[in-house]
Amino acid sequence: MIEIEGLTKRYGEKVAVNNLTFTVRPGLVTGFLGPNGAGKSTTMRMILGLDRPTTGDVRIDGTRYDRLEDPLTYIGALLDAKAVHGGRSAYHHLLCLAQSNGIPASRVGEVLDTVGLKAVARRKAKNFSLGMGQRLGIAGALLGDPRILMFDEPVNGLDPEGIHWIRTLMQTLAAEGRTVFVSSHLMSEMAVTAEHLVVIGQGRLLADTSMADFIRRNSRSYVRVRTPQREQLLDALRTEGITPAGADDGALEVDGVRPEHLGELAARHGIVLHELSPRQASLEEAFMRLTAESVEYHAHTGPASSPPSGQWGAGWRKGS
Ligand code: ADP
Ligand code: MG
Repeated sequence: MIEIEGLTKRYGEKVAVNNLTFTVRPGLVTGFLGPNGAGKSTTMRMILGLDRPTTGDVRIDGTRYDRLEDPLTYIGALLDAKAVHGGRSAYHHLLCLAQSNGIPASRVGEVLDTVGLKAVARRKAKNFSLGMGQRLGIAGALLGDPRILMFDEPVNGLDPEGIHWIRTLMQTLAAEGRTVFVSSHLMSEMAVTAEHLVVIGQGRLLADTSMADFIRRNSRSYVRVRTPQREQLLDALRTEGITPAGADDGALEVDGVRPEHLGELAARHGIVLHELSPRQASLEEAFMRLTAESVEYHAHTGPASSPPSGQWGAGWRKGS
């Protein structure tokens, strides 16, 4: 379990992480989602004790990282910037890591096997492809057989096969009862990887929710309709108590009504329709609207005030 409480990091004037509080639980993959610059890597560095919080607290299974004995046996991590000594072979890199962290050398062979690098174990790491380097980094994270694993944007730059492999590995680790915390700036990636979701924007917590709940709340279905008699259609809808949202191109987006109902309503009023199509808002759109609101919130209230009390969904579906 990773417990984060009131975590804040300032770099001079810049507030990179702003009063974050959340818990990452064992037994499932938790996605850490936010646009580039949101503060994901900074948060992960603070979890590992590589960066000092300005204020706030991080606990790894109840203990601060710097008080853990043999920390690699508690938490393993693959960070954005890879720190592999290029001149060493994959085997030697892992052996050094094991020896300096009180981990038996026999683990090296095991993790090389797990990540599929056994055949190239004696090759110099500097000649590795991006995907192989990523696998080596993951081998390092698994070396201490930790109960907690953390991956910072692990699929960046990987081919589909590598992406699939990492996804499956994370889900397997979670199914073994481990805590798995993985960051991404892509909603689509999180949707197929994570069971729980923590969303941040500009360093602030925007959502802490199950993925199923996020999808249920944000898969808005609506009907898109275009007509040369826009005012008449608006009047007809108003008599039914419906206020549609307007799209940029003059079309209307009508929530909570079936397309056939809308078509029949138009026919009764003698209104010509040029388009009548059922639509589903994508999760990517939902994520963009969620983070756009954080920018707006930030601009209106300034950095000194409290976060929007976890009410990530409230109010963003304006006009719907
Ligand atoms: P993410 O990983 O979500 O893309 P980061 O944690 O890397 O975001 O960065 C969050 C913000 O903090 C960014 O605005 C970034 O420019 C800033 N930042 C990160 N590290 C430093 C640093 N060492 N010095 C100054 N600013 C930093
Ligand atoms: Mg990052």
